[in-house]
Order: sequence, then structure tokens, then C-alpha cells
Amino acid sequence: MKLYEFQGKALFREAGIPVPKGAVVTASNREGLFAPSAVKAQVLSGGRGKAGGVVLADTLDDAAKAADSILSMELKGEPVKALLVEEKANIMAEYYLAVTFDGESRTPLFMASAAGGMDIESVAEHTPEKIMKLPVDPLWGLTDYKIRAMADFLGYEDRREFDGFVRKVWKLFREKDAVLVEINPLVVTDKGLLALDAKVEIDDDAKPRLKQLFETMLSEQRALAGAEAEADHGTITYVPLDGSVGLISDGAGTGMLTLDLIRDMGGDAADFCEMGGLTSPEVMYDAMKQVFADKPDIKSLLVVLIGGFNRMDEMAEGIVRYLGDHPVSIPLVVRLCGTMEEEGKTIMKEAGLPVYDDLRTAVADAVRFAAGGE
Ligand code: GDP
Ligand code: MN
Repeated sequence: MKLYEFQGKALFREAGIPVPKGAVVTASNREGLFAPSAVKAQVLSGGRGKAGGVVLADTLDDAAKAADSILSMELKGEPVKALLVEEKANIMAEYYLAVTFDGESRTPLFMASAAGGMDIESVAEHTPEKIMKLPVDPLWGLTDYKIRAMADFLGYEDRREFDGFVRKVWKLFREKDAVLVEINPLVVTDKGLLALDAKVEIDDDAKPRLKQLFETMLSEQRALAGAEAEADHGTITYVPLDGSVGLISDGAGTGMLTLDLIRDMGGDAADFCEMGGLTSPEVMYDAMKQVFADKPDIKSLLVVLIGGFNRMDEMAEGIVRYLGDHPVSIPLVVRLCGTMEEEGKTIMKEAGLPVYDDLRTAVADAVRFAAGGE
């Protein structure tokens, strides 16, 4: 999950990493606007500075104008729904600092450069020697001498401060299961180091461990994107096909087996949609939404669920909730078994929805219904 800058900075603040004071401003809530300030578009893509998504404002009037203009922008196809308005920093130098995973060394990797600012990609391409790369040995951890080497490379004199800063970044990276923490620019001010930008990406597989964090971040992202918010499709794999039997499964293996069975029984699937290993009512709901949005003309919908980690009561809840919001006229064929099977079946029955026990019978019915059979 990629975080907005304001979300990344909230994590920074909590971790003791210095960030400018600031407030989030939206079209409907502009209370946080102040000046002098830096007014910054909140989108998940980078390169906002170059695209006009970051404006420095000296007066409140300038800030209001900047807010209007940025809130009407689209950056790389993403409409701007929120701004981060921050105290302006007095910049003496702009560094680049990041930690991510490196496929080559198969370790976490720190990257640091004194040529921070807007265009680190072109620095990497044209003058790679300006970027220091320091793999972190998983056994030794982040050692003092590596942090000193980074400080030397950047030419930053306050070693103690730099050490503390980098250790906090490293701690955050590990504790929040990040796959990327990037600070560009990390600026030097008269008061020391300051993270002026924050790009944080959390490993989606950490969801079970960091439930609260994911919930908070996702609900903030949903609130921003508004009613038509794209929900978290993180775990859903969707591939459109040409047939008329809509298909949803809760695993890739089950999905592929079912594709074969549909074909064997003379039908054709309209899609391949699998929800990934860990699911919830919301994911079930989103899977149905996705199939019906892309394939409104399917003739039947076949849902094949096997409860392992995921629970059939939650799956049933998602199905019932979706149908409550979007009544459908085509036959629905749901086969469920495994964890919390009885509870799931009860929910389905109470909603007046049939459930199947046998996979072959379910597939046969879905194919028959799609062909117009009763
Ligand atoms: P990005 O272009 O999406 O990476 O957005 P950034 O947050 O990195 O901002 C782009 C550039 O705007 C930075 O590299 C800074 O040069 C400049 N900038 C951002 N905030 C401030 C600020 O408070 N003061 C000054 N002087 N410049 C800023
Ligand atoms: Mn940046």
C-alpha cells in the first residue's frame, strides 16, 4: 500500500523523524490554510514539484489561490483531492535518503545522495556515482560505520544528529514492514535535518500483522477519494475473458480448476477473478463489484469458495451486502465450504440465496443458467 505524503509524515512524526508543521486541506475543509506556506498536492505519484503541484505561498491570498488551482489539477491522471499545507522550510541543502529492498543483494538497501531535490532518476542515470548505496546485512543490522560513511559522503557534519535520524528511518522501515521509505528532499536547515517529502510504501502482506495501521490508512484514503472510492483491490486479481459465466474464486488454484470445469461442461468464463489468500466481506464485495462493472452482461455468476484462512461467514456477508446494494437479475451460484461453513450457509439462507455443496453441480448449474436453462 502506497501512502500519501501526509500519511507518511504522520508515521515520521510518530517515529520522531523531524517534519515541518502542517495541516491537510480539502475543497470542503480549508481551515488549515495558512501563510507563508508550501502548498502541496496529495497524490500517490511523484514529480509533483515539476508538474506544478507544489507552490510556495507568501500571503494567505496566495495560499488560497494556490489551493484553488492545485485542487482543480489532475496529476498523472489522479485528481487532487487534498493538499498538505506546511510551514516553509529555509533550505540550505537538499539530500536524498531512501531505504528499500534490493533484489540483487537480497538485503535492505540504503541510498543517499547530496544531489537531492526533484530529479533523482536523472541523477541515477547520468551521474550514478553521486548516489551511495549501502546494503544492510541482516545479521549485523545497520552498523555505526555505515551511517558514518553516509554522513561523510553527504558532507553532513553533525554525525550524532545524522545517526539518530537514520536509525529512526531504519526503525520505521522495519516496524511498519515498509518496502520503501524515501525522503526526497531531506533538507538541511539552520535547525538541522528535516524530512520535506515522504514516500512510504507498506508491504501488503503485512496486513494481518498491522491490521490497525492498514485500517487507518485505508479509511483515510477512502475518505479522500470520496464515495466512488476505489476500494482496496490489493489482493484481487482480475482478468477479463470472453464467455458469459462470471467467475469469482478465493484462490488462484481453485479459480483455474473451475475454469477447466466450466470449459469441460461446455461453458465459457467471462472472467478470472480471484481474491487472494486473505479475504474479508469488503474484498468479496469488491470482487463482485469489479466483475459486474467490467462484465455487466454475464448470464450467471459462479462463486467458488474454500474456507481456509478466510471465513465463509465473512464471504456470505460480503455477497449479501453487495446484493443488498446492487440487486442483480441473473442466477447466482455459490459453492462454499470450510472454515465457518455453517455460519456462512445460515447467512445465505436467511437472505434467501441458494448454496451448493458440490463443485461439479455448481459449475454445471452456472453453465446451464448461462445458456438460458432453468
Ligand atoms: P515531489 O516533486 O512530488 O517529489 O514533491 P516535493 O515534496 O519533493 O517538493 C518538490 C520540491 O519543492 C522540493 O524538492 C523543494 O525544492 C521544493 N519545496 C517543497 N517544500 C518546500 C519548502 O517548504 N520550502 C522551499 N524553499 N522549497 C520547498
Ligand atoms: Mn520529492
